[in-house]
Amino acid sequence: MFDLSGKVALVTGASRGLGWAMAQSLAFAGAHVILNARDEAALKERMKELAAKGLKGETAAFDVTDHAAGAERIGAAARKHGRFDILVANAGIQHRKAITEFDAADFERVVATNLTAVWALAKEAAKVMIPAKRGRIIMTGSVSAILARPTISAYVASKGAVHALTRELAVELAQHNITVNSIAPGYFATEMNTVLIQNKEFNDWVCKRTPAGRWGKLEEIGPVAVFLASDEASYVNGHVLVTDGAFSAAM
Ligand code: NDP
Repeated sequence: MFDLSGKVALVTGASRGLGWAMAQSLAFAGAHVILNARDEAALKERMKELAAKGLKGETAAFDVTDHAAGAERIGAAARKHGRFDILVANAGIQHRKAITEFDAADFERVVATNLTAVWALAKEAAKVMIPAKRGRIIMTGSVSAILARPTISAYVASKGAVHALTRELAVELAQHNITVNSIAPGYFATEMNTVLIQNKEFNDWVCKRTPAGRWGKLEEIGPVAVFLASDEASYVNGHVLVTDGAFSAAM
């Protein structure tokens, strides 16, 4: 079960954090993984790590907000490998400012990365998946789309829209044997959360507020992506899979 041998996957934001964890898990399950981020040198290091473990993949450095680059890369992957099975649209950014101080340019920058780029990549993936009559589109949402916190208005708005987009694309693409799901992580200790991790008060709050009593571990996100990418998850569609140690289930 959950064998991804022979499948081709693109994971955006795969140079570190959750994207790297998901890329590794997909590769362990047998997929050929195309690692994306903007920092090409970081991707090459990750590729060396995969190769050292005998896992298959390649790098594709581009900015996800460059829609032409994303389209070119997905098209090239489909031509080179004769298939394109899995898109994990994971790259995302954060910007923290009180609403009265939040610049419109920063709002738009966050939305361009967290939402519009996800939509654009899903569109290009759908173009190659529809004729193939199969595909898996997985987006990284957030528990912050369900439960809000102050000072992250652009992030909450963009991730809320990702959850909504998941449902819309699932409804539109299910007829083509394509599933579209999101993973909504709770608090994971990645670079994005550096300021939160370094803040003892916040760190203590996360551990107390999360019924699991701790931050998520990176190895706890990859298997979720493998499940959603698998043939076995063929009837799981339009779902937001919350992965948060019961954070959002608790009062
Ligand atoms: P990190 O900051 O650790 O990693 C972000 C990744 O995205 C890096 O690989 C970065 O590489 C890449 N990236 C950022 N902007 C772009 C861009 N414009 N084009 C291509 N790649 C880009 O973040 P996390 O791993 O923590 O987060 C990953 C996803 O998970 C995000 O969507 C985030 O919102 C979401 N999430 C994270 C949670 C957490 O607790 N960590 C909780 C809920 C959701 P580079 O800078 O080289 O481009």
